[in-house]
Amino acid sequence: MAARTVHHYPTTIAAACAALAAADAGLVYGGGTAVQIMLKHGTLAASDVIDLGTVPGLGGLRETDTGLRVGALVTLRRMETDPLVRAVAPLAAEVYRQVAHPRIRNTATVGGNLADGDHRLDPPAALMVLDARVELVSPAGTRTLPVREFFVGADRTALARGEIITAIEIPRQPAGSGAHFEKFRSLAAGDRPCASVAALAIGGRLRLGLGALAPTPVCTEIALPPESPAATVAEAARAAAGPLIKPISDARGSAAYKKSVGLVAVATAATSAWANR
Ligand SMILES: Cc1cc2nc3c(=O)[nH]c(=O)nc-3n(C[C@H](O)[C@H](O)[C@H](O)COP(=O)(O)OP(=O)(O)OC[C@H]3O[C@@H](n4cnc5c(N)ncnc54)[C@H](O)[C@@H]3O)c2cc1C
Repeated sequence: MAARTVHHYPTTIAAACAALAAADAGLVYGGGTAVQIMLKHGTLAASDVIDLGTVPGLGGLRETDTGLRVGALVTLRRMETDPLVRAVAPLAAEVYRQVAHPRIRNTATVGGNLADGDHRLDPPAALMVLDARVELVSPAGTRTLPVREFFVGADRTALARGEIITAIEIPRQPAGSGAHFEKFRSLAAGDRPCASVAALAIGGRLRLGLGALAPTPVCTEIALPPESPAATVAEAARAAAGPLIKPISDARGSAAYKKSVGLVAVATAATSAWANR
């Protein structure tokens, strides 16, 4: 007879971390949109499921001196629609708006989205260019990491055993900056990206975040004379992003196809962000 899964409903983050650390094969349950599919298809077996829904305080979203503090259980839909997010970090609001479809966004959480670790996620591209940080708590204590350092390999994150994402900190989008998010889907409207590019232009600097175009989300920054014309910006952006684009062939397209689509998305995002300054 198969071993039974133990379900935990902790009421503190410390209890959640302790249950996760003590489990043979434990998993955290955020919105469940990824976990449910894997459990149902038998591609994931868990000795213990730790539901974060009973931990108070993880669903908060507030403005801070530097930007936004977003609890791990805030839904993608709230990130898309909350006036505070739209005012403080409109690029983030736009990227969350383009994840999957409303049914997923109503349930999926910002913490679960990052912890999913899939290289085809959209939000990391924007969170990286916005210099966002992720807060991680374990029985050993609390640490924060730049989102740029959170993805450490193909579908692998920096989460250690017993560690849980509790919040993300998103700096305020600088006044006078220009931003753009360009997503290309090759299968269906509500699907994961074939190429996902976020661009943020601040004065003569241009940051580019790429999703689905390499084994992890990646980010780069270039400097240009502030009056550079669009053609120069597009060429510089393609030259900077090109070496980072190392796509994985899958049902959404071959590596060569994704590279070609990715370079178009890079040029579009870069020139649009530049023009929006
Ligand atoms: C049909 C479909 C389309 C999709 N399209 C897109 C898309 O276009 N763009 C995109 O970016 N994504 C897409 N996704 C992925 C989707 O965004 C993620 O599945 C979702 O964000 C996961 O969030 P969740 O809260 O439901 O996570 P869960 O399913 O609860 O968990 C996902 C993983 O994270 C872990 N986890 C959850 N919360 C935490 C936490 N706080 N700390 C540590 N670990 C945690 C879980 O143990 C599990 O390993 C799609 C998914 C589906 C099913």
